[in-house]
Amino acid sequence: MQPIYEIFPLLTQPRNIVITTHQKPDADAMGSSLALYNFLKQFGHTVTVISPTNWAKWLDWMPGCSEVIDYDANREKATNILNAADWLFCLDFNIFHRTKTMTERLKELKCTKILIDHHQEPDEPSFNYGISDVTKSSTCEMVYDFMVASGGSEKITEEIAECIYAGIVGDTGSFRFPSSTQDVHRLVADLKERGLKHSKVHENLFDNFLENKLRFTGHVLLHRMQVFYEFNTVLIAIPKSDLLKYHVKTGDTEGLVNFPQTIQGIKLVAIVIDRDEERKWSFRSKGGFDCNTFARKYFEGGGHFNASGGRSSDPLDVTVQKFKEAIKENKSLLQ
Ligand code: 5GP
Ligand code: MN
Repeated sequence: MQPIYEIFPLLTQPRNIVITTHQKPDADAMGSSLALYNFLKQFGHTVTVISPTNWAKWLDWMPGCSEVIDYDANREKATNILNAADWLFCLDFNIFHRTKTMTERLKELKCTKILIDHHQEPDEPSFNYGISDVTKSSTCEMVYDFMVASGGSEKITEEIAECIYAGIVGDTGSFRFPSSTQDVHRLVADLKERGLKHSKVHENLFDNFLENKLRFTGHVLLHRMQVFYEFNTVLIAIPKSDLLKYHVKTGDTEGLVNFPQTIQGIKLVAIVIDRDEERKWSFRSKGGFDCNTFARKYFEGGGHFNASGGRSSDPLDVTVQKFKEAIKENKSLLQ
């Protein structure tokens, strides 16, 4: 993988560009993709954002979101666009299998592949150019850096600022995680100078749900949460029946993982959701417990030190049992 700055001189020649991200994109994935989309279009490129799957409805406000193609729902159209691409930007993921059903399609593409990402252990040989930096708060921060370093900062419009800010708010837990460096705060000050209305973004991100999400959250916290004080760990296991009863849609479970972290002394929070195709795990830690290593070791996953995810093909009760054994094995690290 060549350093990202080597493509800067090539940005001015119009090309067919596809931007893609991980499945079920969150605010950082969608925000970084749309920020880059709105930026590259200004150079005269033909740009398309292709998401491997659908996304949460409450991201639809993002400028350009109505143009995003859902690969799962429009395979033929998306494949034609991918086949015609000169460049493929891969944002907020670093290994093709995080794009689920799009994986093989992306692997076989012969175009120039460019990585911008902040997760651990990038699959660097799969990319021609790129930047991978686990110290960055978000991919949105990295896309902002890309715009500034390539000399395009005057192209950062209010719309782009909204997308970047949304991803940073999402991935820093609203500026609370240690990844919210002075650079992040300076970046936000710069976005404010470019016209960012930050309150509007917060309302779009956090006051934009349907009643069922709140009712579902209440139900889950009351009936599905187990606290293991011996291991400073909270587990929430959500059966499929809950998803059906509360009409849970993509994105409705996001943010749930933050509630148990408000309990004094809790070091690890784990949530497992019984999805159709797999049991999907989310892990969050405070302090010295490494969620990335934990997810890799026990649940075929990965991510960051304090936030990671994983999966299992086992039934819900089996994967929950495996988790309980895993925290026993990790007792010394959780105390
Ligand atoms: P979340 O719990 O919000 O889905 O994910 C937390 C973090 O872990 C995110 O940065 C996400 O990209 C990463 N992550 C989630 N699931 C997986 C997975 O199955 N594999 C890997 N490598 N990372 C994941
Ligand atoms: Mn991210």
